[in-house]
Amino acid sequence: MQLLKEKIMTEGKVIGGDILKVDGFLNHQMDIHLFNEMGKEFKRRFQYKEINKILTIESSGIGIACITAQYFDVPVVFAKKHPGANMSKDVYQSQVYSFTKKQYYSIKVSREFVNSHDKILIIDDFLANGNAVKGLVDICNQAGAKVQGVGIAIEKGFQKGGSVIEDLGLRLESLAVIEGFADGKVILR
Ligand code: 5GP
Repeated sequence: MQLLKEKIMTEGKVIGGDILKVDGFLNHQMDIHLFNEMGKEFKRRFQYKEINKILTIESSGIGIACITAQYFDVPVVFAKKHPGANMSKDVYQSQVYSFTKKQYYSIKVSREFVNSHDKILIIDDFLANGNAVKGLVDICNQAGAKVQGVGIAIEKGFQKGGSVIEDLGLRLESLAVIEGFADGKVILR
């Protein structure tokens, strides 16, 4: 997706060798014009799939998921990393290894909001090694929900997430794929 690629090239910063920082338009300040175009593009790419719910993970997936959901006219459920005291105890949960924090955390979704009738589109901001998506797929499997596809804003194509999702037999649509980083610069596919 051209607009997203331009944003990455002009505003993205490579940190620590394998992390792309995009706080100016995706992960901290959010460019709503860009999000709107991303939502439209996810709808175009998954238009022939029956989808009644979008599932994402807090926090950076939520904004993209909500704008995308307007095009599908479906609700968004986000998996919680920090369940508050008022969260239901009746949850599906999964363990996820965080690529950026290098530690495991658990994600939880109330059983009330995902069920065996659901046809789910998973949305997230980044795909690295695929652990966040695997956790969301695990929750869908526990609920008996069908995963209809995975939509990612930025896939780091040099990490294994793409093949992890392919091995799960799921359709993956990434709006921008990074081939690699060289001398602190982004190389797009
Ligand atoms: P995975 O679970 O696929 O290994 O990593 C995906 C998750 O880690 C995303 O939800 C995202 O929050 C974070 N992440 C992975 N790589 C990057 C990156 O290069 N930049 C940013 N901003 N987040 C990343």
